[in-house]
Amino acid sequence: MPQGKPAGVPCVQLNATLGCKLFGQPSRPAVCGQLQPALEMCGAHDDGGQHARLYLARLEELTRPR
Ligand code: SF4
Repeated sequence: MPQGKPAGVPCVQLNATLGCKLFGQPSRPAVCGQLQPALEMCGAHDDGGQHARLYLARLEELTRPR
C-alpha cells in the first residue's frame, strides 16, 4: 500500500483465505518478514488467532496518527 496501511483497514495483499499474496516474493514489505511471533502477541493457547488479532488491533489503535 503506497501510502502505508491505515489503522483498521485490511492489507490489500490479503487473499480470500487471509493468506499473503506477496509471501515469498521480493515485493513483500520487509517489515512483514521482520515481525516475529512472540508470546505477548500470539498468546499461550491456540485460539485460532483471536489473541493475535486483538493484540494487533490494539497496536494499530495505539499507533494511529492523531
Ligand atoms: S504480510 Fe504484509 S503484505 Fe502480506 S498481507 Fe500481511 S501486511 Fe500485507
